[in-house]
Amino acid sequence: TVHTQSHDYPIFITASGDCRAFTEQSAQDNALAALDLATPIVPYIKGRQVLIVTNDLIAPLYLKGLQERLAQAGFDVRACVLPDGEQFKNQDSINAIYDALMQAHFARDCTLVALGGGVIGDMTGFAAASFMRGVNFIQVPTTLLAQVDSSVGGKTGINHALGKNMIGAFWQPVAVLADMATFATLPPREFAAGMAEVIKYALIMDAEFLAWLENHADKILAKDGETLAQMVHRCCDYKAQIVAADERESGKRALLNFGHTFGHVIETHQGYGAWLHGEAVAAGMVQALVMSYKLGLISLDDVRRVVALIERFELPVQPPKIAVDEALSLMGHDKKVQQGKIRLVLLRALGDAFVTADFDMAILNEVLTSVSD
Ligand code: NAD
Ligand code: MG
Repeated sequence: TVHTQSHDYPIFITASGDCRAFTEQSAQDNALAALDLATPIVPYIKGRQVLIVTNDLIAPLYLKGLQERLAQAGFDVRACVLPDGEQFKNQDSINAIYDALMQAHFARDCTLVALGGGVIGDMTGFAAASFMRGVNFIQVPTTLLAQVDSSVGGKTGINHALGKNMIGAFWQPVAVLADMATFATLPPREFAAGMAEVIKYALIMDAEFLAWLENHADKILAKDGETLAQMVHRCCDYKAQIVAADERESGKRALLNFGHTFGHVIETHQGYGAWLHGEAVAAGMVQALVMSYKLGLISLDDVRRVVALIERFELPVQPPKIAVDEALSLMGHDKKVQQGKIRLVLLRALGDAFVTADFDMAILNEVLTSVSD
């Protein structure tokens, strides 16, 4: 359960299929069977009208199963299928959702269901926040990143041509359904990118979880449903704790940016899309760890230990070559920077993070230099 100022809501985590048994050919059949456990969300749908928002990549895999299940439960279920991709996380897509709602005469007691990754979740949430000044929505996240991060916490929105996630609202879902079986079709690179955020929770919140990840790495990589469900559960717990303490990002929520200021430099320098967000965060976390080490906060063994874990999940640990001046200026443009000072999330110990703007710039320079040549 996530506690927020507006309401509490449940996250259902299921392993409805055996993710390991899926072969290329059977993936699609099994995918339709996945989400069969959509029934837990039924009690959270208040009116009769439901609009499932998804994209053209996910629709052939999961839309039919979910749509049929909800129709069987007696709802009037429509679908809005948007083009796939971060470049479509914009006002045109929001308008397409409004059009679908208006054309089908949806009323204030309707429910939107986001079926997809973070892009679909953020857009559906924003459409729900604004349609008729706010209607219910349910998240059915289908990427690891969406399950452990974007579907929990109520940040919704779209990109503007001049900046990412610049338009949006805080709007909490009424329920979240995360089914491990959806990983059967998720590209390995997307799964790995989600693992970066999973490792991040361990580093900022809980050293014991870091050990758990080390001990369960084989099962995670083998897509063992029960293990994945436990992992997603723990991450949702961490995020829910942070969100409950700081819904509007005035304090503790900033810890979630661990590795992200360095990662932001990589993403921007390479051009959005070249590195997945999670890949940039992975290399960015290593830089934040090295910085913490150079400031005498953690040991070199700590750094090596985390690097080994990140590598195990096939994530990059080295950023690309970026000139220090350019990196610094990209950091200055980070929206997480307050009053021109670079604020970094660093570690006091594994599992214990803090935010600071008070550090020796020479050390930051060293960290940025050590990878630029
Ligand atoms: P995404 O939604 O683009 O999904 C990645 C790719 O995987 C897409 O091509 C998608 O169609 C595909 N896909 C999704 N599920 C699949 C499945 N089960 N099988 C096969 N393919 C599948 O990317 P993402 O990483 O899930 O989310 C990134 C977005 O989330 C960004 O826009 C970011 O700004 C946002 N985000 C929001 C928050 C928040 O708090 N709201 C937090 C983190 C990130
Ligand atoms: Mg992130």
